[in-house]
Amino acid sequence: MKKVFILENLDCANCAAKMEHAISKLEDVESVSISFMTTKMILKADDGKMDDVVEQSKKIIRKIEPDVVVRPKTQQEKERSC
Ligand SMILES: [Zn+2]
Repeated sequence: MKKVFILENLDCANCAAKMEHAISKLEDVESVSISFMTTKMILKADDGKMDDVVEQSKKIIRKIEPDVVVRPKTQQEKERSC
């Protein structure tokens, strides 16, 4: 399954790249993509592993950028077009 999150307060592209790299190393992650421009993280993992993967990803993100708030993207939010 695929889940989309917003990383609020994401501070720089360098950190985004570091997070993406660290999360991609997690055992149960199929793929991860973090966009600094949209502060969006797209996470793919097995259905049964998803909760675990999300928790571990949050830990990694907090270690790199303690101010970042990870929240699920809501349905109402429009995609930014740029
Ligand atoms: Zn940074």
